Amino acid sequence: MIQRFAPSPTGPLHLGHAFSALLAFRAARAARGTFLLRIEDIDQARSRPEWEAAIFDDLAWLGLSWPRPVMRQSDRLPVYRAALDRLSALGLLYPCRCRRRDIAAALAAPQEGAQGLRAGPDGPVYPGTCRGRPMAEAGPEDALRLDMGAALAHLGPARLARLAVLETGPAHGGRHPLSPAHLLEGVGDVVLARRDFGTSYHLAVVVDDAAQGVTHVTRGEDLFDASVLHLLLQALLELPHPVWHHHGLIRDAAGRRLAKRDDARALYRFRDEGASPADICRMVGLAA
Ligand code: GLU
Repeated sequence: MIQRFAPSPTGPLHLGHAFSALLAFRAARAARGTFLLRIEDIDQARSRPEWEAAIFDDLAWLGLSWPRPVMRQSDRLPVYRAALDRLSALGLLYPCRCRRRDIAAALAAPQEGAQGLRAGPDGPVYPGTCRGRPMAEAGPEDALRLDMGAALAHLGPARLARLAVLETGPAHGGRHPLSPAHLLEGVGDVVLARRDFGTSYHLAVVVDDAAQGVTHVTRGEDLFDASVLHLLLQALLELPHPVWHHHGLIRDAAGRRLAKRDDARALYRFRDEGASPADICRMVGLAA
């Protein structure tokens, strides 16, 4: 078993991160497997060395250990580029010049009424304005999107019918077959290369999990839809499929999920107030 914890160094780790990391670490230890830490810093504008140092510090304080050096996504842009080239050679990518406001305007237009605003893994499902633009036109102002219809046609019905998210978490355990209708309407033509990073979270995670031989992905249930997309990308890139464990989210007193901006639940705050690692375990519902 190879598990990983893959935070972005864009803010402090909070209780939700501690829960994910502890679950992954303990599962790996119980199976005499490996727990990896990966730094997801493709967003260089928001990533900070001090947050990365704080991640190492918080996790070591919690009692976690991992092999070094760690993989850092900012070192791997050529690898992501190669994966994009492969998808492009299959005819599955197109350049997109739409900005957020263009997409909102297209979705608000009356002819889009039936489709309307549907939330995909990265915000509203893209209405397809640039679909069909040739890759030869791609320039620095363009993002690259996956043509979901072409991707599904490339895999074909027989292959698609065999694809399923294998979930081991207690809440959603079992086999969740891929639904082409959901991929088209609920996921859509996602961005695989942002104009500012040259890749996207989805592409980088899939490529890196495979490169690191990750067999089990433990993360929050808010990423279930992303996992459906990751399964599809693994199939397109002929990469192995891990098993997933999507755990429940740690919420604040008002029931809202924690975000990095919610400094209130940051681990360093609890540490500063004198909490022990065992206290953190109890706070997230794990045995100390
Ligand atoms: N970098 C992502 C985050 O911090 C990781 C999600 C994942 O586990 O794939 O939310």
